[in-house]
Amino acid sequence: MQIQSNIKKIHDDIRAAAQKSGRDASRVTLIAVSKRKPPEMIQQAIDAGHRDFGENYIQEAMEKIDILGRESAIWHFIGHLQSNKAKFAVKYFDLIHTVDTLKLAGEINRQARKIGKIQKILLQVNIARETTKSGAEENEVMNIAKQACQFDNLHVSGLMCMPPFFDDPEDARIYFKRLKQISKEIETLNLPNTAMTHLSMGMSNDFTVAVEEGATFVRVGTAIFGARL
Ligand SMILES: *Cc1c(COP(=O)(O)O)cnc(C)c1O
Repeated sequence: MQIQSNIKKIHDDIRAAAQKSGRDASRVTLIAVSKRKPPEMIQQAIDAGHRDFGENYIQEAMEKIDILGRESAIWHFIGHLQSNKAKFAVKYFDLIHTVDTLKLAGEINRQARKIGKIQKILLQVNIARETTKSGAEENEVMNIAKQACQFDNLHVSGLMCMPPFFDDPEDARIYFKRLKQISKEIETLNLPNTAMTHLSMGMSNDFTVAVEEGATFVRVGTAIFGARL
């Protein structure tokens, strides 16, 4: 019941933020981030009608998805991905949000080709240039986009970022604006196998600001499933 009412509250907040900024709330998908939470809690959300889930760790995700069923939900990979795990990410995930090097894009393409899949990916941008975070630097992301679009088994569907945590979510706004700006710049290149449809941005603390700035995916964990141990 708690999970269901948390999800409902977040949908209400998304709707209010969309309205405030003149956006259509149906263009925003809530991803329930279930890392380090048991499959029983994910099942509760599925039973309540929720469809999109985000996971960060390949091994943990595979175990849970095998229990719940690959087709029981839409699975988003949002953690740091090593090239040697690309095979599993391609097998288990509908969308990989965290592609930040050409090498990783190439490996995902190779694995997708093997199983005859067009893998949807987002390019992750290290939007605040934090040394501790993954993501391509702003000046690299354009180049990655220009080259990743040559891969026949990838579809580049947009951008993802994770700004620093701020007590005041207003402080994250400039980074969300910047991600949107970069996506517009890439859009003008008219690259093949590429559509800047999605902006994956906003977490429990700042998702309403992200929606105001154009997020199409918000990734919310704590506010749905409670604090992680
Ligand atoms: C854990 C995580 C989230 C969810 O964070 P909360 O603050 O719990 O909402 C979102 N995005 C990424 C990339 C994460 O690793």
